[in-house]
Amino acid sequence: MRKFGDINNVFLGQHFKDRSELRNAGVHTPTQAGISGSEKVGAESIVLSGGYEDDEDHGHHLIYTGQGGRDDKTLKQVEDQKLIRGNLALARSKINGSPVRVTRGHKHKGKYSPKSGYTYSGLFYVEDYWQERGKSGFLVWRFRLVSEDLPLVHVATKEDSPSYEGIVARKEALVQKQVRDSSIAHMVKEKHKHRCQVCGVALETKAGFYAEAAHIKPLGAPHNGPDIESNILCLCPNHHVLFDNGAFSINDDLSLLGLPGKLRTHKNHEINLSCLKYHREHYHGGV
Ligand SMILES: [Zn+2]
Repeated sequence: MRKFGDINNVFLGQHFKDRSELRNAGVHTPTQAGISGSEKVGAESIVLSGGYEDDEDHGHHLIYTGQGGRDDKTLKQVEDQKLIRGNLALARSKINGSPVRVTRGHKHKGKYSPKSGYTYSGLFYVEDYWQERGKSGFLVWRFRLVSEDLPLVHVATKEDSPSYEGIVARKEALVQKQVRDSSIAHMVKEKHKHRCQVCGVALETKAGFYAEAAHIKPLGAPHNGPDIESNILCLCPNHHVLFDNGAFSINDDLSLLGLPGKLRTHKNHEINLSCLKYHREHYHGGV
């Protein structure tokens, strides 16, 4: 099973001698490929190893070049890259909003890469992806990945930076929450096959279906809604915006309030009625 998010006992800036050490630690499983992931669930990790001339490393964000289209022997780009395999996995990570572990290798050029071996650089999110003509003249896929951490000085260790553990602990708490949220949200979306529970539309992109998870009773203070499936709806972006802004709400019998029709349901996804009541009262202006 693919593990998304941080790996227990692996800290930000941790150094690894080679690709098999990285593999054994569970950071990045393949010993050759730069992208580890699947087309269906997304990419859980990448390694920057200087293989592609178009990569850019700005510390806090990266422009990562996708895989494929190179000659095995010369490693030169000889044809266009396609949005398949690892590239499609990274596109899927954007749609899912799931974190990607990033490791920098010594062959990767830039001031954030280590002089030897590999350093774990933490979790990044795929913010955008697009196709463009690379330096070779062939089309490549480019991915913009953004970190929530500050740019790393390479080979930071727990010993030589006393304040480091505190930073990592706070970061872990944040990341764990996001990972948990996105897996609960993901389950709801899967049950509905990414179809909006209001209009029934599933948006199909080149990277797969896209839907949004809408909390009925919002998570943050002062609402403090529960982060559970029965407090989540699978909605298209339009109906998500309308719902969050109180343009419509939902009655206890699941008929829509402010829009015609009824909420589309799934037998294994129950809806929390007290959360619905909260939404009606706080966002739609009474029952
Ligand atoms: Zn909709």
